[in-house]
Amino acid sequence: MPVSQTKNIDPITPVTYVKGVGPKRGAALEMSGVKTFIDLLYHFPRRYLDRSTITPIVNLRVGMDATIVGKILSMNSVRTRKRPYFQVLVGDDSGQLRCVWFNGAKYIQRVFKTGDPVAMSGKVEYYGGIQFVHPDYDILESAEWATLNTARIIPLYPSTAELKKVGLDSRGFRRLFNKVIEIISWQVEEILPASVLQSLKLTGINEAFRQIHFPDSAAALENAQRRFKFEELFYLQLLLAVKRQGIKALKKSYHYSGTGPLLKQIYEKLPFQLTSAQKKVIHEIWEDMKSETMMNRLLQGDVGSGKTVVALLCASIAVGNGFQAAVMAPTEILAEQHHRNLQKLGNVVGIKVRLLIGGQRKSEREEILEEIRSGTAELIVGTHALIQEGVEFRNLALVVIDEQHRFGVVQRSQLIAKGFNPDVLVMTATPIPRTMSMTLYGDMDVSILDELPARKGKIITRTVNVDQLDKVYEYIRKQVRKGDQAYIVYPLIEESAKMDLQAAIQGYDYLRKKVFPELRLALLHGSMKTIEKDQVMREFSAGTVDILVSTTVIEVGVDNPNATVMVIENAERFGLTQIHQMRGRIGRGSKNGVCAMVERKRAETSHKRLKIINGTTDGFEISEQDLKLRGPGEFYGTRQHGFPKMKIADLLVDRELLKIARSEAFMLIKSDPQLRKSEYCAVREHLITNYSEYMNFIDIL
Ligand code: ADP
Ligand code: MG
Repeated sequence: MPVSQTKNIDPITPVTYVKGVGPKRGAALEMSGVKTFIDLLYHFPRRYLDRSTITPIVNLRVGMDATIVGKILSMNSVRTRKRPYFQVLVGDDSGQLRCVWFNGAKYIQRVFKTGDPVAMSGKVEYYGGIQFVHPDYDILESAEWATLNTARIIPLYPSTAELKKVGLDSRGFRRLFNKVIEIISWQVEEILPASVLQSLKLTGINEAFRQIHFPDSAAALENAQRRFKFEELFYLQLLLAVKRQGIKALKKSYHYSGTGPLLKQIYEKLPFQLTSAQKKVIHEIWEDMKSETMMNRLLQGDVGSGKTVVALLCASIAVGNGFQAAVMAPTEILAEQHHRNLQKLGNVVGIKVRLLIGGQRKSEREEILEEIRSGTAELIVGTHALIQEGVEFRNLALVVIDEQHRFGVVQRSQLIAKGFNPDVLVMTATPIPRTMSMTLYGDMDVSILDELPARKGKIITRTVNVDQLDKVYEYIRKQVRKGDQAYIVYPLIEESAKMDLQAAIQGYDYLRKKVFPELRLALLHGSMKTIEKDQVMREFSAGTVDILVSTTVIEVGVDNPNATVMVIENAERFGLTQIHQMRGRIGRGSKNGVCAMVERKRAETSHKRLKIINGTTDGFEISEQDLKLRGPGEFYGTRQHGFPKMKIADLLVDRELLKIARSEAFMLIKSDPQLRKSEYCAVREHLITNYSEYMNFIDIL
């Protein structure tokens, strides 16, 4: 039965049942993810137009971002030899404004008709008079235009090329929603718990839908938006709470009688004092290890904060109790490095440390696999392959995952699928702002190493321009003569990977032939074979390469205390966190390090960003600032495993709401882990219908 004749709405009613949506529109809507009637209600306006947001044309000033509302007075194509364009003249009571579209924007000529009321938004520019270039436009209904001088708020809807083809531009959506509101009685089932609605004074779902599409007032609109933002964040956090709950429900098959003999022995032989942050973190991890539920913990610590020794000490507890521990690194080079360091410390107390990587001889590999099976190998270091290639452990109780710069956590389900169910500690050197980690790693407990061990060497960071490059090169030459080594890093940004790679190769050729013909240079980039990369890294570590020219940051993660200079080309193109981590690679030993950030294209925002790097060495501070300047997209995008996309909430702007949503969601799952109580029936239903793709088998309620 069509929606238009019913009173109650079944949430899964296909959108094609809505009057005004036929098969064609239905197909276009489906491409935008709108399949059901409810989906349509969740197609929220992208912004709103009202009196307070409109600027009279006479008040426009160059440089302003503004929205004007007026009528189309005239339109014409202007042919010039250089750059033909299409111009539209818009007039309001106060004056006229030219809006310009350059060639390539032919479609625009068919969009408007003379006399159409329109809203135009853009930046005011000057070219023989003020104008908008390629403004955002919205065609209004005459009736809407007439009411704009009252307190009317007009929603502007997002659209796509496909939707526009079937008449669903912004105005088309308003027409559609006008029909929808006439014909339904707004009976959508509430999906937030009543207690939460009440304590947070949130608008009920039906009223909120009405206000978000047909706002009565700015205040009512704001309340409706707050409700949907909360709803989105609440379900995101509920998902994480459920995941965490699933892990907590797993009981260990082994248990610790104490920290064992090895921890103390290693501790007493460390060549340094642990920082108090390290002690605190080891304590937190130990609490998890001895608990009877599984550990799922993230250890965040800036580059150089001393995560490796934390991992070793925790591993020594496992080994001291007769269990095996594994350390996984993202690359073979890093695995080898961990192996070397851990073996040095392990040897002191007789822990059998073994390395398992792809490059080993068959006989050697067989032998190690056997040792892992029998339990002779106590601490095993390797890459992800450790848990993937039919490796059999005797009694694996702890897995430490050193992610370095990469997001993306090995899913516990992956471990379970291999027959393992160990405590998991993920270490990351990426200092993620709290707001972000609440989501990215929201299903884990978090420990933070917020203190750096006192180090002898200091890093001096400077922004330089192209004219100063000769001096930088001269400095490198001087340091190399003293026996030091240097990195020169080129950006490799995914979207322009090919061109970036070319720039790096050209740069390398130029440096090798023209700048440093007397020195030993090597090139390292992501498209090289692993064996080639490893070879280059080994040569660099061994000191047979003076300058390593590189495009990738991951491989730069290797410790070479002899490297003291880093040049970062086109530094303006890197993320701040990336730069911060890269520079952490120099001055690792007792010598000072110098990091020169070459700014090739000076823009105000990037210059501001680079200044932040000059100003502080605190990774958390840097990532917090970076997040503010670039928005959460970059952080979000790097996590391998998907999260639901936020439609209305903004993880940065709405951080206070996020905190509340998190605490409400976690409290709910704590009080009713499986959402079995009748008052949470709708919540459970909504979670399962809409978020099941983000859960895996252990999470199923
Ligand atoms: P990261 O957290 O970047 O992995 P590492 O574990 O590699 O850092 O430690 C960096 C360096 O600091 C290593 O050479 C390590 O031996 C040293 N280190 C670790 N903890 C301390 C400490 N408490 N005091 C002094 N040096 C330390
Ligand atoms: Mg490390």
